[in-house]
Amino acid sequence: MLTDLTASEIARLVASREASCVEVAEAFLQRIHILDSKIGSFLKVEPDKVLESAKLAQSMLDRGEGKALTGVPIAVKDNMSTEGIETTCASKILEGYIPPFDATVVTRLKESGMTLIGKTNLDEFAMGTSTENSAFQVTRNPWDLGRSPGGSSGGSAAAVAAELAPLALGSDTGGSIRQPAALCGVVGFKPSYGRCSRYGLIAFGSSLDQIGPFAKTVEDTALLTEAITGKDPLDGTSLDLGPISAQNLKSGSLKGLRVALPKELFGSATHPEVLEQIQNAINVLQKEGVEFQEVSIPSIELGVTTYYIIAPAEASSNLARFDGIRYGVRKDGQGHIGMVEKTRSEGFGHEVKTRIMIGTYALSAGYYDAFYLKAQQVRAMMQQEFQKVYESFDVVLSPTSPIPAFKLGELKKDPLALKLLDFCTIPANLGGMPGISLNCGFAEGLPVGLQLMGAPLDDEKLLQIAYCVEQALPSGTIKPSIA
Ligand code: GLN
Repeated sequence: MLTDLTASEIARLVASREASCVEVAEAFLQRIHILDSKIGSFLKVEPDKVLESAKLAQSMLDRGEGKALTGVPIAVKDNMSTEGIETTCASKILEGYIPPFDATVVTRLKESGMTLIGKTNLDEFAMGTSTENSAFQVTRNPWDLGRSPGGSSGGSAAAVAAELAPLALGSDTGGSIRQPAALCGVVGFKPSYGRCSRYGLIAFGSSLDQIGPFAKTVEDTALLTEAITGKDPLDGTSLDLGPISAQNLKSGSLKGLRVALPKELFGSATHPEVLEQIQNAINVLQKEGVEFQEVSIPSIELGVTTYYIIAPAEASSNLARFDGIRYGVRKDGQGHIGMVEKTRSEGFGHEVKTRIMIGTYALSAGYYDAFYLKAQQVRAMMQQEFQKVYESFDVVLSPTSPIPAFKLGELKKDPLALKLLDFCTIPANLGGMPGISLNCGFAEGLPVGLQLMGAPLDDEKLLQIAYCVEQALPSGTIKPSIA
């Protein structure tokens, strides 16, 4: 079946005319039609537009202008602006909003001839770890429909895991690509800060947000990364560097690789079976010649606290624009203040309001030094500690999530427990480092993700290493038995 294939396999098929881009798009639309009522990955799929974009891809191929992923369908998280297609951030405040422009990543997908298949569900404004904070629907984990796919890019991760799309885009502010990738058993990659344009990504924490790919394999991940990254003059934080190249992906080797294991990421909060799977992976890699060493990065212990000051502070500022005047569905109230109050209290969900309040508090006069400034100092300290580690090691390895997929509703009443789950992924965002999650086995029948973090801007090297690790640990080829 076409939907079983990886993105590279699909690209080869359409390039050799064994299938047309429209046939490929139809196969995925059909599978979405049959399965997505069970999973809830997509907020919006518009078949007419999908087929139109598949036809454009086909004409690119027919003109001999095909690129590496031309004709491959891709799902996009609904916090990235898509011209003419509703973009809601899974929030009532943006219901009905149709952007008049494309995010740079979407422009680049189109230039590469990929077929945008639909917009995926997320935690409202990407704030969450379970996708349960969406104002519109629940997304279920394809490995167990009673469980969360993780979040906030849960719709994108579940779509790839259930083969509703061979590729997807997510955004990662504190782990929102890597954690759902881990829980759904797919590959998820967050590039170094500044390598992928944020133009048109509806901002959450601007100093932390990065867009990145979901895919079934590291090779597909690297190809998609190459297509979307590289300097963008429309994003002031975009670095003056070319795309993250996939060209030398397969020329790395595990032999003699130096890998750091920070003991703070292997703590007692980690599920014993997750630890066991990671340990098995370490044993396999050791046999391949990888040298492991335990290290200590003490500031990791402060990561969650630091992140949950900085991210809400930036969010409180970014979300000020949703006031019913500039952006947001206006709700009429008494005078100007009454209107803004009603617009924001009815438009935002509970988690988003909580974050706006925490962020506003942390930034207010009298508290700024005690919270925001202190958090920035810890962030700088963490960057220095990691930099030291990268002077002696190629990558840092850890679990991606301390636990496998949890039951829907299980952690909803305990927001603190949910936030503590982010401790393995947050350092890469605070440090601007690239991070990737790949499947390394199963705990209680559910996927376990292994995370690799590289030095800032070492994205090509990290992908090369991840490719070698994937070859050594072929557990990523097992699929959920849905449908
Ligand atoms: N779980 C984290 C949060 O709720 C990370 C979210 C993200 O990366 N978008 O803030």
